[in-house]
Amino acid sequence: MGNIHLPILDQPPPPPSQTPGSGSLGTDGRRRRPYPADVSGRWVRARRVVYFALIALWAALPWIRIGGHPAVFLDIERRSFFLFGATFNAQDIWLLFFAVTGFGFGLACVTALLGRAWCGWACPQTVFIEAIFRPIERLVNGPRNTALERAKKPPSLDSVWRTGLTHALYVLAAAFAAHVFLAYFVSLPKLYEMIRTRPGAHPEAFAWMLGSTALFYVSFGVFREQFCVVMCPYGRLQSVLIDDDALVVGYDERRGEPRGKAKDAGRGACVDCNRCVVVCPTGIDIRQGLQLDCIACTACIDACDDVMDRLGQERGLIRYDSLRGLRGEQRRPWFRRPRLAIYGVLLALGMVATSVAMHRREPFEANVLRLPGPPYTREEGKLRNGFELHLVNKGSAPATFTLTPAASPDVEVIIPMPTLEVDALGSRRVPFFVTMEEARFTGDRPIVVHVESGGTSKDVTTRFLGASAASGAPKTKEVHQ
Ligand code: SF4
Ligand code: SF4
Repeated sequence: MGNIHLPILDQPPPPPSQTPGSGSLGTDGRRRRPYPADVSGRWVRARRVVYFALIALWAALPWIRIGGHPAVFLDIERRSFFLFGATFNAQDIWLLFFAVTGFGFGLACVTALLGRAWCGWACPQTVFIEAIFRPIERLVNGPRNTALERAKKPPSLDSVWRTGLTHALYVLAAAFAAHVFLAYFVSLPKLYEMIRTRPGAHPEAFAWMLGSTALFYVSFGVFREQFCVVMCPYGRLQSVLIDDDALVVGYDERRGEPRGKAKDAGRGACVDCNRCVVVCPTGIDIRQGLQLDCIACTACIDACDDVMDRLGQERGLIRYDSLRGLRGEQRRPWFRRPRLAIYGVLLALGMVATSVAMHRREPFEANVLRLPGPPYTREEGKLRNGFELHLVNKGSAPATFTLTPAASPDVEVIIPMPTLEVDALGSRRVPFFVTMEEARFTGDRPIVVHVESGGTSKDVTTRFLGASAASGAPKTKEVHQ
């Protein structure tokens, strides 16, 4: 995987410093674990701010209350979902289609414009590794060279305790992340109560917490860049989503080649110092061209800018630019890029469809069902049908419902509870009965019940079933299947 490159830039012959099987996968398919060196610079600082802001937001969302509920709360147990003041229940699951497709088109649009900005700046895999797990590793194992030297030596007491401590801290960080994650699915008071009681009192939640901890630990602490390089489907789609005008992190081959040592005459701007390679978290050499393994983290930009500063040369040998720009061509404006127009139109359509769907979403559901058993009974010269009205309150506050039967000649509609309250996001089943003189029955007929709540009304319709007196002599009580 490490050698799959997008065939856009002319590839220079492999430089002598380049290790075969670039990236974190060796030519034999084994993992070559990168030990990225520390780097500082404007992009690293900016990314750090974004990472901590995202983590703070993620940890705060279950605490922030909007409309009396957490900003994001997915109450799977009661099938109620709260998103920034809006409430949804299981009946609204179809809206997910719009949310997922909208996110997909949004990501396609962002990718066409900004390349893998998501990977480098906002993907949880990058954010957690760079903001939490990598600093832990640095703290315990020291910088790249120290860690590399230690890794080459046979295991010793020193390396064993450092490795043990590193992984213990990883597990702690993963457990913390798992608890925050769990807070999105159980309420905060409930989570607090769970933490204070023994795991046996809430085995399912405990199992989820253990599973999430294991997942975060393996993904951020062990699997790391391999997730981006080998598993991530979004990474695999890059060659389809971006074109020569998308913003990427790229090496200016025209300016940098032929690379050579600082003292070499006739060399390009690249002094072949390898700094851009050793800081790369996926272990690739950006000078080989745009690669699937590049998560656009910008570390190599800062590393190379630092080298250029020291040499007194202009910054930007590695920079954010389009592939067209790196070739020295003019970047096309966004309105002359059909790909962007198509993604944009699809995104706009998705947003309009979502708005319409949200707007048309009703505050309650009302459905009528026939009571279990025979469709009708005969009793003392009357036909009788039994029904059940299923009411679902989709609002985040209790709601009062009023049930009124529409006038229908010859039938009597008996609703024992014509006014009732349904809890927030709750549901109730209300039985009602319809009777009719058997002698007046001439055929099935519609029955309409008018349901009103909070200014919204809805008619639910069912059918009265029976049989005329001629079809059989009525007994005191006779059941018809
Ligand atoms: S950091 Fe810059 S100068 Fe050094 S090898 Fe990379 S591209 Fe060349
Ligand atoms: S090549 Fe540069 S931008 Fe891409 S992953 Fe490596 S360091 Fe980050």
